[in-house]
Order: sequence, then C-alpha cells, then structure tokens
Amino acid sequence: MTTPGQAMFRCVLATQNAHKIDEIAPHLSSSLQWLTLKQANWTGGVLREDADTFEGNALQKAVQGYRGTMLPTLADDSGLVVPDLEGAPGVRSARYAGEQATDAENRAKLMEVLAGRELQAYFVCVLAWVWGDVQHTVRGEVLGKIVPREQGTFGFGYDALFIPNAGDGRTFAEMLPHEKQAMSHRAAALAAFSKLSLNQLGLVAGSQQAFENHR
Ligand code: IMP
Repeated sequence: MTTPGQAMFRCVLATQNAHKIDEIAPHLSSSLQWLTLKQANWTGGVLREDADTFEGNALQKAVQGYRGTMLPTLADDSGLVVPDLEGAPGVRSARYAGEQATDAENRAKLMEVLAGRELQAYFVCVLAWVWGDVQHTVRGEVLGKIVPREQGTFGFGYDALFIPNAGDGRTFAEMLPHEKQAMSHRAAALAAFSKLSLNQLGLVAGSQQAFENHR
C-alpha cells in the first residue's frame, strides 16, 4: 500500500483507548500518521455508540470523529458473539453486566448464564473509515468456544473464557500477546483494512493539504 516518498496523511483513531494506536498503527501504511482524538483537538466528549450492529457502531464513531476533527477517521467496534445465547453479549459486550460493569463482572455474568456449558462463540472486530464521502467497513472474526471457568490471566475482557479453534486448546488469556495477535479478530480486521489502497481510502496526494489549507 505504500510507495517510497509518499506524503504523510494525518488520520484520527476515534477511540478513548490511547493504547489502540500502538496496536493498530504498525499494521497499516507508513503513509498514515495516527492521532488520538485528544491530539486532534477533539472536544466532543464520549463517543456515542448505540447502534445494534458492530458495523453500525464503528461507523457511528468514525462519523463523529470525522465531523469533530475534519480529518480522515478510523474507528473500531468489537465484541463476543454466542449464537446459542441469541448473539449475546454482542454489541453490548463491554456493558453485559451493566452500564459501568468491569471485565470481571461481565465474565461472571457470562459464566452464570453458561451454567456449566461450553458453547460455540466468536469474537468480531469491525473497523470503519470515514473521510468526506468515502466510507468503508471491514470485519474480522475468530471462531472458537467459550468455557464456563476462567483460564489464564493475560489479556482483557472475555479472554479467560475463550478458546480459539485455531489454537492448541489454551484460552486467549493463557497466550502471550503475540500468540493471540496472530489469530485475533482485530488482526483479521486490520489485515482486511490494510488491503485497501490509499486511493480507495480517498487519500490522493495533495488532497488533504488542499483541504486543510482551505478550511
Ligand atoms: P471495544 O470494542 O474495545 O469497546 O470492546 C468491546 C468489548 O468486547 C470489550 O470490553 C470486551 O469485553 C470485548 N472484547 C473485544 N475484543 C476482545 C478481545 O480481544 N478479548 C476479550 N474481550 C474482547
């Protein structure tokens, strides 16, 4: 996606989570310079995410970031889906046990609902890009199962309950960060996003400069 000497395009990662830039930036074109919302002088407060799909939420966040900064914006939305639980926790993964729930409380609720069962599940990560009229969403998934007892202490969220099919029987929380990253839903979404050319992203040499000079 990059050719030597290409211009740097300033982009925003619309997340409240500063460490996500470190996770995402190395996988994408070196022509893209990533800013946090704060670095882009964001004054819009907490991003709204009240759609009922991962695509809807990611786009909602990217549109807000773009409108608030007038810079090309990438946003993500992710979560765990258990088909036999009607898709729960789904888009409500971070709030499964309540609006302010901690990761531990969300896992406790899931274990309670599982009541000793192991169920097929998958993680989803959707990335949404918004720059003017250009919009793209890409999706990454990792298939596996959830287990009713926590195993492992690495990671976050539902990692201690999720065993990916592509692994060796360990949960994500029993894997080193690079082992999880090699098969994660986030890595799959990033791989799909990195296949989009700068042109497809609406980033044509000179366009951003011209835009920024005239706003
Ligand atoms: P967000 O997209 O960062 O807001 O994540 C939504 C929620 O989904 C998180 O709070 C976690 O509960 C869950 N989640 C998303 N990705 C992962 C993961 O890689 N491991 C464990 N839980 C995850």
